[in-house]
Formats: sequence, structure tokens, C-alpha cells
Amino acid sequence: MDCLFCKIIKREIPADIVYEDEHVLAFNDINPQAPTHILIIPKQHIATLNDIEEADLALIGRLQYTAARLAKERGFAEEGYRVVMNCNDQGGQTVYHIHMHLMGGRRFTWPAG
Ligand code: 5GP
Ligand code: ZN
Repeated sequence: MDCLFCKIIKREIPADIVYEDEHVLAFNDINPQAPTHILIIPKQHIATLNDIEEADLALIGRLQYTAARLAKERGFAEEGYRVVMNCNDQGGQTVYHIHMHLMGGRRFTWPAG
């Protein structure tokens, strides 16, 4: 399958991997938008948030749980951070393998920025 993130999982493309377990991989974003910007992905290929099925619910929880653990590990959990999942073109999705952006180390504003 011609999927960038599946290739990172299979080590066909290098990435700066910061966490891995049986279900999840996390690596630094190549174009960071914050001092810490990590992408957390399921090892199972799921193209978009619209493709999540009931059987995948635990996996989605693992992405969120991994984000919180990495935030604690890096020491910005208490001050706060942002997690984002983009869906499809208008949502800003560019890689069609679902991923959670974990961004920390600066202040974020809402709704923009
Ligand atoms: P999206 O726009 O789909 O929500 O996020 C895709 C993210 O993947 C972007 O933040 C982009 O910088 C990152 N990205 C794209 N290609 C690569 C790559 O080859 N390696 C890494 N580490 N990140 C990538
Ligand atoms: Zn994939």
C-alpha cells in the first residue's frame, strides 16, 4: 500500500521515533508547529476518522492515552497542550493514515493558531 505512515511503521522511510508499542507508533513531525510536535498513529492502516469502526474504539483511546503519557513525560502536561486530528481535505488532512498531532511547549489560541 502506498501510504507514507505505513512505510514509516515498516521502517521503509526513516522517522524520529519517540514511542512504540504493539498498537501505536509516535514520531516527531517533520515540520513542527510547536517546540514539541509529535504524530501518534495506529499501526493499523485507517485512512480517515470517517473510517473508524466500532472494533477500533480501543485503538483510538490508545492514541489519546499515548498523547497524555508523552505530555507528562516531557513535562508540559500540567501547563497544557493541544491534540488535533484533521479529517479530509477541508479539515486539513494531508496524510491519509489517521494521526493525532500532540503539540506542546507554547501557548495556543482558540479558534485560530
Ligand atoms: P495532516 O496535515 O495530515 O493532519 O498532518 C500530516 C503531518 O505529517 C504534517 O504535520 C506533516 O508535517 C507531517 N509529515 C508529512 N510527511 C512527513 C514525513 O515524511 N515524516 C514526518 N515525520 N512527518 C511528516
Ligand atoms: Zn497507512
